[in-house]
Amino acid sequence: MASIAVNIRDIHEQIKAACLSAGRESETVRLIAVSKTKPASLVKEAFDAGQVAFGESYVQEFLDKSQDPLLDRIPIEWHFIGHLQSNKVRFIIDKVTLVHGIDRISTAEELSKRAVQHNIQVDYLLEVNTSGETSKYGMQPDEIAAAAETLFRMPNITLRGLMTIASPDRVKAREEFRNLRLLLDSLKKISSNPEKLTELSMGMSSDFEDAIHEGATMIRIGSAIFGWR
Ligand SMILES: *Cc1c(COP(=O)(O)O)cnc(C)c1O
Repeated sequence: MASIAVNIRDIHEQIKAACLSAGRESETVRLIAVSKTKPASLVKEAFDAGQVAFGESYVQEFLDKSQDPLLDRIPIEWHFIGHLQSNKVRFIIDKVTLVHGIDRISTAEELSKRAVQHNIQVDYLLEVNTSGETSKYGMQPDEIAAAAETLFRMPNITLRGLMTIASPDRVKAREEFRNLRLLLDSLKKISSNPEKLTELSMGMSSDFEDAIHEGATMIRIGSAIFGWR
């Protein structure tokens, strides 16, 4: 089996190639290594191979891992990429660099309230259900503009962009990535701080090259780095 370091190197090669063919600089795409269900020892292995940003999906697992003696002293940048319930916000708020999966105004309100309490600034992304699959989380694309007015006013939190999980079908996925980019463009038009709205978190192990072609700035890769879950 290929080692984690080799997998990470291979993905960077694929990112470079996708950027080249899309006419983008490869520095404009960040690799988030998705370590959910994988032990701290493998996160350490990836970190030692140069990977800094890690994505976790489950609150308790994230807390256990981030406090693991193998990891608690190294400067890992944690991204929370899972569905976040309001009542769990307080556990993670001061431990993450970016919250990817905010999908309702009430969760953003809780994020803002806790950020004020901690006297910190928190960056987040809105999750959008671009596929229309009822099994998926996320706001509907046509709800975003109306929600934005409220979201932009909330203290101590900053909307930095949008996140989506695309359909398994490749043709559909490509269209969903494109729609997320267009949605971000339309948000920039109604924002008084459009320069903050820079991030498109889209693309996973099986579809990140298409996501890069459609403008992804963060790709979330799990199995292609750590193996099957
Ligand atoms: C698990 C997960 C990923 C990684 O998926 P892979 O197919 O293993 O790359 C990316 N994003 C989210 C939100 C996930 O839950």
